Amino acid sequence: MIRINELSLPLDHTADELRAAIVKRLGIGDADLLDFSVFKRSYDARKKNSVILFIYIIDLQARGEGAILARFADDNNVRPAPDTRYHPVGQAPADLSERPLVVGFGPCGLFAALLLAQMGFRPIVLERGKDVRSRTKDTWALWRKKVLTPESNVQFGEGGAGLFSDGKLYSQIKDPRFYARKVVQEFVRAGAPEEITYVSKPHIGTFRLTGVVAAMREEIIALGGEVRFESKVTDLLVADGQLEGVVLANGETIRSRHVVLALGHSARDTFRMLHRQGVFMEAKPFAVGFRIEHPQGMIDQARLGKYAGHPELGAADYKLVYHASNGRAVYSFCMCPGGTVVAATSEPERVVTNGMSQYSRNERNANAGIVVGINPEQDFPGGPLAGVEFQERLESRAYELGGSDYCAPAQLVGDFIRGVPSSAFGEVEPSYKPGVRLGDLAPSLPEYAIEAIREALPAFGKQIRGFDRADAVLTGIETRTSSPVRITRDAETLQSLNLRGLYPAGEGAGYAGGILSAGVDGIKVAEAVAKSLLSGTH
Ligand code: FAD
Repeated sequence: MIRINELSLPLDHTADELRAAIVKRLGIGDADLLDFSVFKRSYDARKKNSVILFIYIIDLQARGEGAILARFADDNNVRPAPDTRYHPVGQAPADLSERPLVVGFGPCGLFAALLLAQMGFRPIVLERGKDVRSRTKDTWALWRKKVLTPESNVQFGEGGAGLFSDGKLYSQIKDPRFYARKVVQEFVRAGAPEEITYVSKPHIGTFRLTGVVAAMREEIIALGGEVRFESKVTDLLVADGQLEGVVLANGETIRSRHVVLALGHSARDTFRMLHRQGVFMEAKPFAVGFRIEHPQGMIDQARLGKYAGHPELGAADYKLVYHASNGRAVYSFCMCPGGTVVAATSEPERVVTNGMSQYSRNERNANAGIVVGINPEQDFPGGPLAGVEFQERLESRAYELGGSDYCAPAQLVGDFIRGVPSSAFGEVEPSYKPGVRLGDLAPSLPEYAIEAIREALPAFGKQIRGFDRADAVLTGIETRTSSPVRITRDAETLQSLNLRGLYPAGEGAGYAGGILSAGVDGIKVAEAVAKSLLSGTH
């Protein structure tokens, strides 16, 4: 197999033209190109007002590959293709009696369970929330009727925090074993669009993800696994530094010496339980800020110039960073093109925002978090749970500022920069449901964060024309950008530093940030569990 990097074609090219470009690049006859597939497709928008090109990475099979590679020995863009297939670490013997547990059924728990099931380990999944269908009803009840269900919402339930999301599937993790490819290929097998395996910034969108997650659950069950909803883990069974099992909220105990803990960043009650049990954990940095909304058309124009609205490019995104004079980094987070801002609390009387979109990304506004990095040493000194407490205080204050009914506090960008409360919208209508309350956002975050964001917005306006327009809307607040704790694990065995048999994983444990990286971490931890079970060293 041969790989060609950096093959450029115009946006509107046909499939035949792609084939012809490959044949031409290699200087072979058309009949000698036996097969090809697109490994990656990105676009280069630097010359957005003259020409935007697609840039391909192509994997192919051809007659006489050895001779072709020899001819291109000095060309770094024509090379043998790497083996990107997934190779399982082993297969469970049929008589293995111990079944591993997976706590949490977000992307991390989903992939840990799927991989364990595919290797024959028949995992038992314990998820505090409900299945996708019931969970969707509960989540919409907050958005439409201001009714929160603390165990079934945007954070908790089948699919985890990523279910009602933009479904962006990219990450900057190092991935030498191509686990991210396994993640997207499994999504495609479960019904996601094929293009997510090759476009450079793939996304699924929330409704499609719902079906995909349910299909993957069915596969786990078909392979002998079990998935139990409304099964919150509330305690651990421990003997001599070894985990022996877990206790559920209904008092039931389930024994296992291999427990994957894929809790997500919002399981504050479970973090507290783990801390009480003496499981080693430490506070870690995260970020706080607001969601900002602009018309998507304005972002498309700024990013894609005359190609704005081109059907092959879709709604444009952005990524921004600014270093403020008070030493703080301000950056855009989880940008959702053509999406909506959503209420993302899992706790009563708290307000927190996030963003989501559908596959089509055709809502009128673009939104993103504009957040400021904070760290335990400087901003929330104390024990391992100081960051959790810091988030809780901010989210409670946001609830009050929003009118104590799950509406979110909001302010127009022009007023925010000038330091005056807002009282009326301009052209940009906020999408947050159940609604926003206009006023002053300054009391919602620490002063250093407000100062840094005030300085950053005009600077962002220099990179994206109109970003600091007076009627853009800021909705508060964004606090659950990543986990405020790390449940530190041993680099080799991936077990907790001081509790054997506990495998902290995914975003909640501080080892992932996003759907794709959480899925990849789930695979890594499943492999660690499988190796331990197969070697009998536990
Ligand atoms: P989670 O997805 O949080 O899953 C943890 C699961 O554990 C939950 O289902 C929870 O109910 C369960 N649980 C917790 N405690 C217990 C317990 N004691 N017992 C049993 N079960 C328990 N990321 C992206 O990459 N792209 C996006 O577009 C994107 N958009 C997002 C939009 C929104 C609205 C939100 C909230 C998040 C978004 N994210 C996005 C972030 C992404 O969802 C997370 O990074 C990812 O879901 C983390 O996966 P995880 O499996 O580690 O944890």
